[in-house]
Amino acid sequence: MKKSKITLKAFQILFLCSFVLVFTFCNKCKKNTANDIKEVAEKHKAKATVENNPFFKDYDTPFNVPIFSKIKEAHYMPAFKKGMKLEKQEINAIVNNPEEPTFKNTLIALEKTGELLSKVSAVFWHMNSIDTTDGIQKIAKEVTPLLSKHENFIALNDGLFQRIKALYQKKNKLSLNDQEMRLLERTHLGFIRSGADLKPEDKEKVKKINEEMSKIALQFRNNLLKETNNFKMFIDKKEDLAGLPQNLIDVAAEVAKKAGYKSKWAFTPHKPSWIPFLQNSPKRELREKLYKGYIMRGDNNNKYDNKKLIAKLASLRVQKANIMGYKTHADYRLKINMSKKPENVYKLLNRLWEPALNMAKKEVKEMQAIIDKEGGNFKLASWDWWYYAEKVRKEKYALDESKSKPYFEVNNVREGAFYLANKLYGITFTEFKDLPKAHKHAKAFEVKEVDGTHIGILYTDYFYRESKRSGAWCGDFQGYSNIEGKTKYPIIYNVCNFPQPVGDTPSLLSFDQASTLFHEFGHALHSLFNRTTYPGISWVARDFVELPSQIMEHWCAEPEVLRVYAKHYKTGKSIPQELIDKLQKSSHFNQGFVTVEYLAAALLDMNYHTLTDAKEVDTLKFENDYFKKIGLIPEIISRYRSTYFQHIVGGYDAGYHAYIWAEVLDCDAFEAFKETSLFDKKTAESFRKNILANGGKEDEAVIYKRFRGRDAKIDGLLKKRGLK
Ligand SMILES: [Zn+2]
Repeated sequence: MKKSKITLKAFQILFLCSFVLVFTFCNKCKKNTANDIKEVAEKHKAKATVENNPFFKDYDTPFNVPIFSKIKEAHYMPAFKKGMKLEKQEINAIVNNPEEPTFKNTLIALEKTGELLSKVSAVFWHMNSIDTTDGIQKIAKEVTPLLSKHENFIALNDGLFQRIKALYQKKNKLSLNDQEMRLLERTHLGFIRSGADLKPEDKEKVKKINEEMSKIALQFRNNLLKETNNFKMFIDKKEDLAGLPQNLIDVAAEVAKKAGYKSKWAFTPHKPSWIPFLQNSPKRELREKLYKGYIMRGDNNNKYDNKKLIAKLASLRVQKANIMGYKTHADYRLKINMSKKPENVYKLLNRLWEPALNMAKKEVKEMQAIIDKEGGNFKLASWDWWYYAEKVRKEKYALDESKSKPYFEVNNVREGAFYLANKLYGITFTEFKDLPKAHKHAKAFEVKEVDGTHIGILYTDYFYRESKRSGAWCGDFQGYSNIEGKTKYPIIYNVCNFPQPVGDTPSLLSFDQASTLFHEFGHALHSLFNRTTYPGISWVARDFVELPSQIMEHWCAEPEVLRVYAKHYKTGKSIPQELIDKLQKSSHFNQGFVTVEYLAAALLDMNYHTLTDAKEVDTLKFENDYFKKIGLIPEIISRYRSTYFQHIVGGYDAGYHAYIWAEVLDCDAFEAFKETSLFDKKTAESFRKNILANGGKEDEAVIYKRFRGRDAKIDGLLKKRGLK
């Protein structure tokens, strides 16, 4: 959630909600953007000087929010450079301090470093995500290697590490309070995990392995990009477009035109292209061709092949883990997660595998019955799944989005999220119209306790535009901290990609999008309520971070809550029971497939990263043998095959299971409310105190148990996915 002093310090860590990233794409509103782009260009023309650089002085705004209107592109680079220079001086001052290391002169001093760098980073990376320009991208490219170098200066700083180590070794004699002790332990651990305490020759080896791994990762991603962009399925007969939605056809015509073909249509292995094609095209051979284009990426035995690279990466990871003193890479990675050990992850994934597979087999039967009834005379194959699943969806669940959308007007949904937070925690949200904003689409709200005490600021920026990256996320301009009595309050933002209002029609959301709004709002509450003294311990483990967000999705779908916020934008009438029933029923649609497809990838990730032998595997054999061993059915291909599994190339290696790990927690935590009442004050108070306000002060398993009175049970998740 927050940055740690020695990992990715100057970059912003956002809640990347990957499921949302996958499914949120919007073709409807891509048209209304020409004006936006023009405005962006105008905005950044102004001249900048050192004297007028807003990063170099106090913002002098209410709540210290960034003074966006005065920040120009030309201000970023000088602020980055000065920020790095100042932090380097601060670090050197700590290292060269002739006094014995103390908690104050080393750890607190370290926590206080880099204020300017954090200040400019927070704004810059936000703008790069929500309203990027060529200029911003150019700066990003230029500053990224400088920041990496700067981070290494801190993470591999032996002088700094020696002071921390000296403190760590006498930690029990320092009379530290809980938070101080946690900060010392976490900081020490961070250095250890970057290899700071290894013998010089091992340090050298790790450095070489790291360098080689980043080269491989880069090449893997470049290959994948090439493979994804190089494949196009051209259609030149109009009848082959039968069944496809018009916006998909329009985009396909554009793609073909760009490739130099005027009266053709091109479909690509990008999700917004291939998924709707597979869902809607009755042409079986075309579905097969396109799907194979997608699943064979990186496995075409050409110069962009990724098979050897992924095998090499797995091997290097074994070598590094061994040097670090771990049996496998997963052991090394999971040590700082809630799951702690590979066995615990396998236990969960295996527990889910059988029921999910059984459900998927039922889904196959259901679809085969449709094929047979239609006289199809073939056996369902993986490329047929989306097409027949759509038929099942229409037949069994019949949820017409055009009927439900008017009940999910964006402001009503946001008010629903605010209403929920008020019911649970008593907090209020007051719009602050004059507060500086990063974009005209943004709104600002002051969040207050029931007695009016300030909690923090929440910005919302919900609408799609071309200059914004896709997906939905939550981040901050400033997190809570209270170092030496100087309190800083959270300034948080939620960003989504919902349709913009058009003419008299406001922004109307699908139910999935409404859930996304609640999800991001949950991340925001986590950051708003966080009350850890030091930023260095405000972050939580990857397999825990989605608990506060995913739990909100449960309330979003509860009839009692729906009836409050899901109001028809024209008539103001609450959503009818019939629609609520349909929404609830459809939540079980295709869950066998979704779960199996996901688990297969999560298991494959674990299988690579529990290797104990550094010998490079034969990728295809490794993958096929494993899927055979776990009994994956041929009608389902793992959500990611080895050659395009970007998550495990970096970031989510031995970590792809984190989403479902957190889902066990959110389902189980929500049951605590179901067992009492949806808005039970006492349960909410405990959830806020133990989970939301606690940041990374304590081990995640400990705080969860304190909230729930026991460890999490899997039953809630099984019930939610219809697996029980
Ligand atoms: Zn999330």
